[in-house]
Amino acid sequence: MVRGYRTISFEAATLLACFPPLDILGERDARFYDRIRALRQSGGSASYHAFGALRRQEHRRALTTWCARLLGDWYAHEPVVSAILPAFEAWMRRKRRVTFRLTQVLTGHGCFGEYLCKIGRETTAVCHHCGADQDTAQHMLEACPAWTAERQVLVQEIQRNFSLRSVMSAMLRRESAWEAVVSFCETVMVQKEIAERSRERTDPARRRQPTGRPPGLKAPLPGAE
Ligand SMILES: [Zn+2]
Repeated sequence: MVRGYRTISFEAATLLACFPPLDILGERDARFYDRIRALRQSGGSASYHAFGALRRQEHRRALTTWCARLLGDWYAHEPVVSAILPAFEAWMRRKRRVTFRLTQVLTGHGCFGEYLCKIGRETTAVCHHCGADQDTAQHMLEACPAWTAERQVLVQEIQRNFSLRSVMSAMLRRESAWEAVVSFCETVMVQKEIAERSRERTDPARRRQPTGRPPGLKAPLPGAE
């Protein structure tokens, strides 16, 4: 459904996976059951067609409930959640896969200096590829000069608006934009992961303690996705 670091919020993870919280799904199924029972008790026939229509109605209602909850929640301000919510319905209908590295870029929880510093894997948030003070997902996506060549295809698809909301909107409008973003994330994140492992090998102080639990999900080897 979705693969990412376990530090991602519940709200972001379920939204990325298009999987509503279980209490909402439970209420959906209970309402569906009650409506079918009421239909039968009133003498109506629960045909296959009526069954499907009721099911779809209740599912739409559940999604509306979920969206309203997210909008009213503190997590609505989380970048990935606020980027998806304006296109909530299109997001729920998406056919394309959310890859591990796309999830890293959308959530910022991944091989970025700022995040690695926050979880104690780096001593500084600096970008090792260009020297910028803060290596974040947005820096990688929009500004880091190390990825100018890789960014060219992306620019053609999403123009020059690299806000997460704009990128998300373009991805949901055109499959070619979705593919361009996924491809950019794969190409760049693989290089960042290789560089991070190389730094880890050459600096023993940065290696994880064998007795400690790593704070994030270990990234797969390049090409393992
Ligand atoms: Zn940089």
